[in-house]
Formats: sequence, structure tokens, C-alpha cells
Amino acid sequence: MTSEAVRLESIYKTYDNAVTALDGVTASFPAGSFTAVMGPSGSGKSTLLQCAAGLDAPTAGQVFIDGEELSAADDTAMTKFRRRRVGFVFQDYNLLPSLTVEQNVMLPLRLDGSRLPKPGLSVGGARRADRRRSRSVLERLGLGDRLGELPERLSGGQRQRVAVARALVSDPAVVFADEPTGALDMRSAREVLALLRTVVHEYGRTVVMVTHDPVAAAYADSVLFLADGRLAGSLSAPTADAVADRLAHLGDARGIGAAA
Ligand code: ADP
Repeated sequence: MTSEAVRLESIYKTYDNAVTALDGVTASFPAGSFTAVMGPSGSGKSTLLQCAAGLDAPTAGQVFIDGEELSAADDTAMTKFRRRRVGFVFQDYNLLPSLTVEQNVMLPLRLDGSRLPKPGLSVGGARRADRRRSRSVLERLGLGDRLGELPERLSGGQRQRVAVARALVSDPAVVFADEPTGALDMRSAREVLALLRTVVHEYGRTVVMVTHDPVAAAYADSVLFLADGRLAGSLSAPTADAVADRLAHLGDARGIGAAA
């Protein structure tokens, strides 16, 4: 495996309304790292995540996931690739309300055609394997006793943990999280952030998280700052104070920290 989970090469994104959301971003996210992406509202954070995750296509530039180019693929290939190699956690959890915790987590495995019954494995056998896998992830994330619950019976923090389990179940090269704690109270937010750290530091996964909260960013190993669709610096071993300070001076610091 390459040591880069994600590499972005000169990514540009201009929307139909002629807004340039990304203006030439080149960045690399090492495997096994936890990176927060920060910047003022409208600086391109969500667009960056969507393009990196293959949920949207950049206007120009290349995205590599685990060394494999993503943007070159056609729509169908991109969808397949994304399902296998990328996990995504949304602010509002995006769980299907009519499915149980376990069914929600199994869903990506069901949708991934490449995992459908292999020779010698019946549909039932494949299903059992998917179930074992989903349960094991849910148990590791402390949700083993919630398998049959519907999402509406869970707290926000528990729902987001289910969403993290769903993002991990297909063993992706990287999990992208867009404001994963944006809808949570402080205690639940801290639990989810601690979980993301565990996912990185104990299970060796790679997480890239957009947040506007310096306290949340301080859970990451490093922070990448964006301003006006461009990289505007980075910070290693961030503290909430250092992040807040950098954010407050983003305009002046643009470009300087990028070399750090
Ligand atoms: P952030 O996540 O940092 O708030 P976004 O990536 O959401 O920034 O947006 C960057 C810029 O692109 C903003 O000017 C925003 O209005 C614009 N934008 C985002 N999504 C769209 C879209 N689907 N269509 C048109 N413009 C968009």
C-alpha cells in the first residue's frame, strides 16, 4: 500500500454559476493520519471533500485514492470505486430511518456489486459474511447491543457512531467526514471525535474531516487551512487555541504557512 491515502493534484472546481470554489489545490493525506480541513465559510471545504471523495467531479485536476486515480474513471466506475475505497460521514448522519442499525451498516456491502456472491459462496453465505463483518465493526465501536434498533431510538451521538461504522465497513482507504459533529451537543461531539481518533490511531485508518470548530480540529493530527479555494497553510499537533488564532489571521497568513 502506498503511504498516501489521498493525493489531490491541482484541483479546480468551478460551478455552473461560474463560482470558482477550488482554485488549484494540491495536497496529500498520509495513510493512518487524521487531518482537519478548516477555513471561512465559502472557502471551499465541502467542495474539496466532495471532490476528494468522488461525490463530485473536479473541473480540472486529479484525485488519487490509495495511489489509484479517481477522476479518470467514468461515472459507473467512479461509483464502484468510491463504494469500495471511500467512506463518508455526513453532518446529519444520512441513516435510512426504516432500516435497523445493523441493516444501515450492511448497506454499503449490499450495494457493492464487486462483493456479490463469489463462486462457491451462496447468496445466503455472502449475506452471513456481510452480517459478521457489520457486527464486528459495530461491536468495536461500542454499538453491539443496538443492532436491531431503528435510528430514531438512538441519540445523535449514537447515530453518528453508526454512520462511522457504516463508513468503515467496506474497509475503505479513507473516511471523509463533513462537519460530523455539527449537529451534536458538546459531550456527544467529543465522543464522536474521540472515536475518529481511535479509528485512526488504533485501527490505522485515514480520516479527513471538515470542521469549523477549533476544538474539534484539535483532535486531528494536523489541520489544513483553506481560504478562497486555495491552501492557506497547515498546522501540526494543533491545539484549539493555535487553530483559532490561525483562523483569525488567515487573511494575513495566506501562503506563508503553506510551506510549513
Ligand atoms: P465551505 O464548505 O468552505 O463553506 P463550499 O465548498 O460549500 O465552502 O463552497 C465554496 C463556494 O462554492 C461558495 O462560494 C459556494 O457558494 C459555492 N458553491 C458550493 N456549492 C455550490 C453549488 N452546488 N453550486 C454553485 N455554487 C456552489
